Amino acid sequence: MRVLIVEDERRLAEVLGQIMTERHWQADVVYDGADGVDYALMGDYDVIVLDVMLPKVDGFEVTRRLRAAHISTPILMLTARDEIPDKIGGLNCGADDYMTKPFDTGELIARLNALTRRQGPVVDQTLTAGDVTLDLSDRCLCRGEERVRLGFKEFDVMRLLMANPRQVVPKEDIIARVWGLESGAEDNNVEVYVSFLRKKLAFLGAELTICSLRKVGYYLKEERP
Ligand code: CA
Repeated sequence: MRVLIVEDERRLAEVLGQIMTERHWQADVVYDGADGVDYALMGDYDVIVLDVMLPKVDGFEVTRRLRAAHISTPILMLTARDEIPDKIGGLNCGADDYMTKPFDTGELIARLNALTRRQGPVVDQTLTAGDVTLDLSDRCLCRGEERVRLGFKEFDVMRLLMANPRQVVPKEDIIARVWGLESGAEDNNVEVYVSFLRKKLAFLGAELTICSLRKVGYYLKEERP
């Protein structure tokens, strides 16, 4: 099982990570809501443990953004005892369950197991930008009846761009999310994959194109004929 933990209290985040590791689950731990959104968009997680009060983007907004991007990964929210009215807000914004801190480890595990069992077929697993749709289940880029399958890195780059429409996605962010900060990947790697993606968009006859902002990053734009 792959778990994403978004918790800014380092000690608690560490304990949560240990609890998962003891069960041979794979856990990624991030400490603010912005990283939580990015990791959840890029990673293939079975469940997300999400604190409510977080730096940069709070847990409610993280949930809203993920659901808006059609990420249906079950979310268990952690709320402090004095934030109990927030529980209602948490469930309304798309979270699946909540627990009050401090929590019992056994109960946490039981709930995470229940959440991952409960997840049914994913209804909507696509991202759309302009006249193009990205099918997240089979990595196909589609326009009308035309489909072309993307390689893993192409898919990761395209997914990142489509999850951030109308925004310039910095090259460094693409490298960090797709290759990892430790990878030694460079701007050239991004350029190569963007050129592959441009060819595939052209093959589909798409109006959507990937534009570059020199030395900054990339963004999607619809070129009307
Ligand atoms: Ca917190």
